[in-house]
Parts: sequence; structure tokens; C-alpha cells
Amino acid sequence: MEHLASPQLAEIRERLARFIQDDVLPIEKELELGPEDPWPREVLHRIWRRSSEAGLLPICLPPEMGGAGLSVLDQCLLKLDIARSGALLGAHVLGDLSGPPRVGNMLKYATPDQMERFFLPVIRGEKGTCFAMTEPHSGSDANSITTRAVLDGDELVINGHKHYISGSPFADFAIVQCVTDPDSTPKGVTAVLVDLDSPGVRLEQAYLPMSGQHIDADIIFENTRVPVGNVFGGFGNGFKLGMARINVNRLLHCPTMLGMARHVYELSLGYARTRQQFGGPIARFQAIQHMLADMAAALWACESMILNTAMLADRGADIRMEAAACKLFVSERCFEVADKAVQIHGNVGVTKNHPVEHVFRKLRMFRIVTGTSEIQRNTIARVILEA
Ligand SMILES: Cc1cc2nc3c(=O)[nH]c(=O)nc-3n(C[C@H](O)[C@H](O)[C@H](O)COP(=O)(O)OP(=O)(O)OC[C@H]3O[C@@H](n4cnc5c(N)ncnc54)[C@H](O)[C@@H]3O)c2cc1C
Repeated sequence: MEHLASPQLAEIRERLARFIQDDVLPIEKELELGPEDPWPREVLHRIWRRSSEAGLLPICLPPEMGGAGLSVLDQCLLKLDIARSGALLGAHVLGDLSGPPRVGNMLKYATPDQMERFFLPVIRGEKGTCFAMTEPHSGSDANSITTRAVLDGDELVINGHKHYISGSPFADFAIVQCVTDPDSTPKGVTAVLVDLDSPGVRLEQAYLPMSGQHIDADIIFENTRVPVGNVFGGFGNGFKLGMARINVNRLLHCPTMLGMARHVYELSLGYARTRQQFGGPIARFQAIQHMLADMAAALWACESMILNTAMLADRGADIRMEAAACKLFVSERCFEVADKAVQIHGNVGVTKNHPVEHVFRKLRMFRIVTGTSEIQRNTIARVILEA
């Protein structure tokens, strides 16, 4: 899909590759960082700041926000490069977990005061953020959230429990979806910006996802008071805000999965060529060749699908069906690719924290996060049946 990138992208990709090589990998080496080690906050701040100085952190934002005005296709290519590099801290280079891409599509709703206090620091790499919707009893059914924000003078008082919030352990503030009008139909939900060091905010990390990464936590609000000026996007507009770019966001997860799957495919090619059994490389067995062939075919299908959907998005087309189909197909095929990579690597592939084993676990999670496969199928069915 390279040939469809904008002319400016070649230089940006080079800069990105250099940044990973010169700034990110040496830090990983210096810390002797393993895939399941917690990320020290000061190290993340260092990467965010350096990436911002290198003009990379905000690159996916519009030009007026310091970005390069990249097409969706260009953004897909950058995300693919990062995931394919295998860098453990890769998600922090463009800020996928807690930086500008998490808020980029919503910035147009920020007031000047919110830009100053919350979002410009994110763009400069000084602050991290997270998006908190899910609750212990409210997952796919987002309408069932119960976290309440009640107006009291010129403050909101928040009570509730957000569950499995990515990036919260190193975020400075959260965009919290709160019920502000429980009696209307549908009930009024409002996004509120909450500093995570406010009195009455507590983080709990009582679980570890199967990836072993310490990047998710619960956020508990007990009579947390925030100024009413922290209402983001207006009262009752919380879902509108979240849904504004849900399709493009679903699509933008796909190159990350593809990059990880490509990485383990490339490792499998190398392993098949070098691992000797029965007097020669295992790559000469047709059984291994067929697995590699299936992996290559699946990756090609995923890449083609991402490319096509990104081009449609760039043309402003309605991609509800295509984005959901991409998230569904790419997450399931890439997981199968990782499964084959484990098989080809034999005992090496099932060894804890080998890159192939770790990617296998990470890719399994992508069939759940940002809308499960079943929810994607529901969206596809809704669109094709309404046609
Ligand atoms: C690692 C990780 C990171 C996350 N990060 C965030 C974050 O940053 N912010 C945030 O707000 N949330 C986050 N989440 C929560 C995530 O969005 C939810 O896990 C996801 O929406 C699914 O909800 P659930 O896990 O409660 O499953 P449930 O909704 O309880 O679903 C359980 C099963 O039922 C199926 N199901 C549910 N409803 C239907 C239906 N209508 N039709 C068919 N099948 C259905 C599901 O597909 C699934 O198989 C994260 C989760 C994980 C695991």
C-alpha cells in the first residue's frame, strides 16, 4: 500500500524509523525492559516529550494543532510501521495509548480554557490522557453506564466506577462518560474532564490482562468535585462525542494488529529457514510451507482491506460497514497468523515472553477491545439489512 501514500510520508516514515532506532530502542535496552515490565512514568514522559520535539507526537492531528494533516491511509502506514518494528514502547511514539490520537477527533469540542489546561499539554507531551466509558456491569451495552455527575453550584460531583481503562496508570486526566440526566430517553450522558490527582479519585489495578502489560486500571470516583467548566462538548453530548469518529477509530486499530502479525510472520520466515530438523531447515517441509503461505495470504487480505477502507474514509464515504468488517476480519485473521507463528516456532514459540508468544496473547485481546467481534458483526448486519 506504500505507493498510495502522500509524497510527504516518506520523510515522516524515515524520521519515525530513526526515532525508534535512536530514542526508543536504546531506552528499552538501558532499562532491560521486558514485555511485561511496568513502564516507569518518567520514561514515558521522556519519550512523549522527545517525540513531540521531533514533531512526531502530534503528527496525526490537523495542521492547526501541530499535525501534518495526514490522510487516514498515511496514518495507517505509520501505525503499521510502529507495530511491525516490535518496539515494546512503540505505542508511546505517536501517543496511541495516552496521547494526541486519543483526543484528536474530539479537539474541536474543547473550549479555549480546556485546550490550555488539558489538551495543549497532551500535544506537547507533558500530560497523558485516557477515555473512560466501560464499567464493571456495563461493557458492550454502553447505554447501561451508571457513573453519575450531579450539578452542585458551579461544580459537578462524580460518583462511579470505571473498569479496564487503558492508559489510566500513567494518565494525568481522564475523559469520563457520566450520566447527567438519568430521566430522559435515552438518558443524558456527558463527557467530563477529570484530573486523576483530584481528591476522591482512586486507581485500582487488581487484575492483569493476558498480555501481562500494566496499562489498564479501574478508576473509582467518590464525591469527586470538578468545575462545571470541565464539561467537554456540552451537557448530554457524551455519546455523540464518543461516536464522532468511532468508524475511523475502529479502522485505525487494524494496522496495529497487522503490524504485530507481520512482525511474527517475518520471525517465522527466518525461523523456518534456520531451524534444522531431520537434516535440514524445517522450511523444506510442505506442512511448514503451507502455514507460511496461509499467513502470507491472510496478511495480504488484511492489508488490502485496510487500504481500501482507508481510501473510502479519505473520500468521506460512510464506512460503518467497512470499518466494522475490517476490525472483525483483521483481528481474527491476525490472531490466526500469530497462532501459526507459535506452531512454527515449536517450544520456542510457547516460551513465556518470546516475541511470538507475547504477540499471540496481545492479538487475542484485540478480538475483545474496542468492540468485540460480535458487536462488529451486529454493526455489519444492521447496515446490510437496512440497505
Ligand atoms: C485490555 C482492555 C483495554 C480496554 N480499554 C478500555 C478503555 O480504555 N476505555 C473503556 O471505556 N473501555 C476499555 N475496555 C473495555 C472494552 O471496551 C470492553 O471490554 C468491551 O467493550 C466489551 O465489554 P465487556 O468486556 O464488558 O464484555 P460484554 O459486553 O459483557 O460481552 C461479553 C460477551 O457477550 C457478547 N455480547 C455482548 N453484547 C452482545 C450483543 N448485543 N450481541 C452479541 N453478543 C454480545 C460479547 O461479544 C462478548 O462475547 C478495555 C478492555 C480491555 C480488555
